[in-house]
Amino acid sequence: MSTDTSHFSIEFFPPRTPAGEEKLDAVHAELSKLGPEFFSVTYGAGGSTREGTKRAVTRFREAGSRVAPHLSFGGSDEGEILALLHDYKEAGIDRLVCLRGDAPSGMGSASLYRYANELVEFVRKETGDHFTIDVACYPEVHPQSRSVESDLEFFKAKVDAGADSAITQYFYNADAYFGFVDDCARAGINIPIVPGIMPITNYANLARFSAACGAEIPRWLTKRLEFLEHDDQALRDFGLEVVTDLCEQLLAGGAPGLHFYSMNQADSVTRLWQNLVED
Ligand code: FAD
Repeated sequence: MSTDTSHFSIEFFPPRTPAGEEKLDAVHAELSKLGPEFFSVTYGAGGSTREGTKRAVTRFREAGSRVAPHLSFGGSDEGEILALLHDYKEAGIDRLVCLRGDAPSGMGSASLYRYANELVEFVRKETGDHFTIDVACYPEVHPQSRSVESDLEFFKAKVDAGADSAITQYFYNADAYFGFVDDCARAGINIPIVPGIMPITNYANLARFSAACGAEIPRWLTKRLEFLEHDDQALRDFGLEVVTDLCEQLLAGGAPGLHFYSMNQADSVTRLWQNLVED
């Protein structure tokens, strides 16, 4: 049976320099050949990359891709967010990933920011059904959650406010995803929940990110990655095998698509995608 890639999407972060932008344009061109449903571009903590995100999505849109800028209130007021929404509409953008976002490091607590459900509500109020809205969710529970129940309750608030689909934080344990999807169905959350997939290419970076965002690297995987840490090619090959298996389990179990965290690299997503299509 051939793999349905029609709901595969790819995420970038906005580069900080003109040279980085040029490099990302080349990565975007390379990954466009795979034909993802859309590319998303993150919004730096606290809105710190507002212009960079806008420049990247505008260029990708002009190159013919469907794009979804990530967005949060961060430190902005409603007027600034509204102006950005209008610019996006004018640029032919029809999809958004709406978030609370995190605070830039050293800038206090993101809990002072407005929750994602408020942003979804605001976008719906101001722009009706123009945008398809994705939101974030957490099969292994958001690190600041009071409890599993409250996390589900707040996820449902985003759906009730008008979210169309959700993308998960990455994870390496398929059962965490399947259990979460079951819990969501019991809580009356009926939108597609697309697994976020993080390729494994570098152990130190992955360990650092995972500690920060509450994604668990299972012990067996940690031990193997530690062992391979200084053999770049062997680690990449092993990571590809592990993540291909994970994606296959997820798709076989009914995941409605996959969202790849590319880390602005073409190679890891391309190899993963090709494995999934060929298997
Ligand atoms: P929310 O859904 O608002 O939830 C945040 C926390 O508050 C949770 O613990 C929730 O349980 C709780 N909560 C929610 N509503 C309420 C309420 N009404 N009262 C009390 N508590 C509440 N970060 C960025 O800065 N930029 C990005 O571009 C970005 N992209 C992301 C994309 C994906 C797919 C994912 C999974 C995460 C992304 N993040 C990004 C990280 C995200 O911003 C953080 O995980 C952030 O801490 C939570 O954002 P959220 O939208 O899930 O928040």
